[in-house]
Parts: sequence; C-alpha cells; structure tokens
Amino acid sequence: MAVPMNSLQLVLPLPRSGSSGAGISYYTQIIRCPRKVVLDRELKEPDDRADGAAAVGTMVHQLDELYYGGRSDNPLVIPISDVNWGNSIEEAKRCWGAYIKRFPGRDWWGEVLAVEEQHPAEPFEGIAVEADLIAAAVGIDPFTIRIDRVIRVTEESAARIALNTELGALKPGVYLYDRKTKGKADGDAALMHAHSLQFYAYMLVYNAINQHEPCLGLIVDEIVTTKEPKFRQFLVTPPDEQQQQVVRSMLKNAKALEKSDAALGVAFGCKEYNRFCPHLLSGACTRS
Ligand code: SF4
Repeated sequence: MAVPMNSLQLVLPLPRSGSSGAGISYYTQIIRCPRKVVLDRELKEPDDRADGAAAVGTMVHQLDELYYGGRSDNPLVIPISDVNWGNSIEEAKRCWGAYIKRFPGRDWWGEVLAVEEQHPAEPFEGIAVEADLIAAAVGIDPFTIRIDRVIRVTEESAARIALNTELGALKPGVYLYDRKTKGKADGDAALMHAHSLQFYAYMLVYNAINQHEPCLGLIVDEIVTTKEPKFRQFLVTPPDEQQQQVVRSMLKNAKALEKSDAALGVAFGCKEYNRFCPHLLSGACTRS
C-alpha cells in the first residue's frame, strides 16, 4: 500500500478484527442477545476499538504478531493526527518496548510453531476433515478458532520461564499462547482465565485436530499498561471432560438461539455495568 510521504502514519498489519461469524465471541454474543448481533450487522455499528485503551491493545497485538513472525503483507495505516490513535501509538510503543526488553528474542518462550493460527485452516485439501473433527469436538458446525500463537516450550526455554516468570516449571511440549493488554492488574484474572470458555474451546479444538501432539496448556501473557509496565503470565490447563461439556452446552444453546426469531431480544444486555445497549439508545430496538 502506498503511503503518502507528507503525512505522519504508522503502518502495521491489518488487525484481524471482526467476527468470523462462527467463533466463540460470536456465539457468546448470540447468547447475550441475538437481536443485537443482527442489528450490529445490519446497522454496521462502528468498531469502537480505535478508542483509548482498546486501541493500545490492538496495536500491541499487531506488534506482537509482527515480532513473532506473522504476516506483514496486509498493512493498516494509522493516522497519527487522530488524537485517540496518536496517544495510543506512543503508549503501545512504550509498553511493547518494555516487554521485549524483558522477554527478548523470538524464541524466548520456545519455538514458534504458528502465529494467528486459524482452524479450520484456510481452504486446503484437508479442510473438510478439520471441520468434521471440530464439529465432533464441540458439537456444532460451523465453529472456528484463531489462536494468537502456538509454541513448543523446549528444555532451554522452560528453564528461562521458570526463572523469570511465576509460571513455575513447565513440561516441555506444545502450548497455546494468548496475548492480553490490560489497563490494570485485575485481582480475579487468574480465576477468570482458568474458567474462560474461550480458552477451553481453543484447547478442545486444537487437541481434536492435533491428536498426535496435543497442547499441554494455554499461556496467557498479560502486559499491564501501568506507569512502569507489569508483566503477568497465567497457565490454563486443558479442559477436563466436565469443562468440555460446558463448552458444548453453551454452543448448543447459542446455536438454538441463533435459529430462533432474532427479532426478539433476550434483554440480558440492554443495560450492563451502567452502559446501555446502543440500539436501545438509538431507538433501533425498543425492547427493554
Ligand atoms: S436493547 Fe436489549 S434486546 Fe435490544 S438489541 Fe440491545 S440488548 Fe438486545
């Protein structure tokens, strides 16, 4: 993409924002309100991730992807003149700079096996097999996942991780990896991550496809954007049979709701945490 030389801009790979329409966040939104999902799509609600802290998270995510070997052939040009993005760029650079100073090198965590890995994979001859394996694992079809990174922790990186993080001694092997950027160190983060349906679903699907070498867990790597950036890691273990069943039940319910009359909202999300649904405020939805 040609970048005008006379404007200040930062070029990053295009964020893979937006729902695939078949991932865990899509089905979670359906559970909250199928009508909102339909209205979001029809009215094309602007992506609010360009604001403040969310924009920092987006950019750190893209820097992370670039650093660990992701694609750079789909650039996003960010106008620095935009106040929100402009401030966020400096903030993202500050936090990312501190992160790679603390954890330097592409192989710090181990061998990088994949970056932004999507399943079922983009069309290739085995896609139907993958889709079938996923459907058998989660109980619905279609279902897609996209994992920030897949790494193989080696003997060498396991020693580094044990010495420099609170993850303790990791068994060498394959782990999924998820990047998070947080404005503050949530006290309940460990509990939240340990019970995340998203992480359960990632591991359930990954292990259904990779039965020859299943992942041993998922590492959540948080950058906390405080004055002095903090770094926290959490290990989430693969879901046991009961936890897998929770994922299947949730997806089955969402699938049933998806097929229901989406003209009716379920009114769970009309007002949450003192924030009103934009469709209630705009009058697009009158259910309250
Ligand atoms: S106002 Fe309530 S019922 Fe209507 S779309 Fe929003 S969350 Fe759904």
